Amino acid sequence: MLSDEQLAAFRVELERQLEALAAQDAATAESRRPVELDQQSTGRLTRMDALQQQAMAKAAEQRRRAAAGRIRAALQRLDDDAYGDCVRCGEEIPIARLRLDPATAVCVPCLESDDG
Ligand SMILES: [Zn+2]
Repeated sequence: MLSDEQLAAFRVELERQLEALAAQDAATAESRRPVELDQQSTGRLTRMDALQQQAMAKAAEQRRRAAAGRIRAALQRLDDDAYGDCVRCGEEIPIARLRLDPATAVCVPCLESDDG
């Protein structure tokens, strides 16, 4: 069982990670804007670069969204007094694993059975 202090520390860490994701999202919002069709100021190669960068920024945004979703789910488990239990089998997730990734939802055996 996790102590109240440990649970509080995980909550702080999860909220910190969520804020960091939001900050990254705000910082890269500009690069996700539609690429403008301005042939005078941007040559063809530059425009392709811009499109590629935009695609990468969008992919990064999707990863951040997925990560934020995991973190919000973990915060919800904290609220539900279910944090630290594997959502699949209900076993306690070792604290070392939670420290590595506080948003983790499943234990290692369940994760591995998922892959195979
Ligand atoms: Zn499990």
